[in-house]
Amino acid sequence: MKVLGIETSCDESGVALYDTDQGLRAHALHSQAALHREYGGVVPELASRDHIRRVLPLTRQVLAQADCPLEALDGIAYTAGPGLAGALLAGASVACGLARALGIPAIGVHHLEGHLLSPMLATPTPRFPFVALLVSGGHTQLMEVSGIGQYRLLGETVDDAAGEAFDKTAKLLGLGYPGGPALARLAERGVSGRFRLPRPMLGSGDFNFSFSGLKTAALLLAREHGADEAARADIARAFEEAVVEVLVEKSTAAMLATGLGQLVVAGGVGANRRLREALTQRARETGFEVFYPPIELCTDNGAMIAFAGAMRLARGVPRTGYGYTVLPRWDLAFTTPEAGERRR
Ligand code: ATP
Ligand code: MG
Ligand code: FE
Repeated sequence: MKVLGIETSCDESGVALYDTDQGLRAHALHSQAALHREYGGVVPELASRDHIRRVLPLTRQVLAQADCPLEALDGIAYTAGPGLAGALLAGASVACGLARALGIPAIGVHHLEGHLLSPMLATPTPRFPFVALLVSGGHTQLMEVSGIGQYRLLGETVDDAAGEAFDKTAKLLGLGYPGGPALARLAERGVSGRFRLPRPMLGSGDFNFSFSGLKTAALLLAREHGADEAARADIARAFEEAVVEVLVEKSTAAMLATGLGQLVVAGGVGANRRLREALTQRARETGFEVFYPPIELCTDNGAMIAFAGAMRLARGVPRTGYGYTVLPRWDLAFTTPEAGERRR
């Protein structure tokens, strides 16, 4: 089964072709980072307009690269939410229009389901059930995943997401947008132990997180020491170490509480080298396995949407016509196992 995936929830236009027999056949991505940089964050209207410009050329590119004619597709998956309404509509309208013209199903996919299944695009491949640590720009969650559409939330951030904390801290350290990867690079040059930031909610006894205080603590340090480059690197290092430690400890606790043997890490912060090293080491010591998506599939991409769409299609998608709505806010717990649509 060949499924085209279209991701347009935020500031990346991603298109990919996933084949249930042959795996990921092609994927292409256009990042709007340069477009939004001068504003220091994503401007929704600019994002929607750019998706409209990019999606069809990216689709042509992916189909050409996979040497797959449009007519060979079995379904078209698109991100139906959560995300920016206008951006989501840009992808949904192309997906549903194409699907209608071809007479094949259009499959609305939950963006976080895409993220959390993305480790299944790598080898070694995790098998259900597993615990998922989802650490992205908008979410930080620990989930027990028993199968497609069977997601039990164990805990989540009570304020900022981990990626958001990376981005905000990067901004106050004078790094550009998007800041997470830049902050991680700066931290590489920092000295461990010069500054120590708090480990928020480490002893809270649940699986929740809080990251907004860290940013404030980093801001105070930056005000005091910020001007010199070495101090900024040391603050970046202290920030990264605090986030990584909390993520590792809470994930370990979730593994022990559920008794499951596999942890999957997904979302943009999953690209962080120090997080990967710390989790891999902890997994070895504690006796569980840990799985990651390929680095380039940690942040938003079409491949994870094509994959989640293919999994949904394989289970049978109800033919509901080609009308579509997008869900800018959509809790993953309110997806059904049978199809991705909203359940309330
Ligand atoms: P969501 O999926 O929750 O809607 P999103 O799509 O914006 O949010 P992703 O694309 O999964 O999030 O990830 C982007 C986030 O990952 C950004 O906050 C970015 O700073 C962060 N990030 C990317 N690479 C790294 C890295 N190497 N270290 C730390 N953070 C990183
Ligand atoms: Mg992004
Ligand atoms: Fe995302």
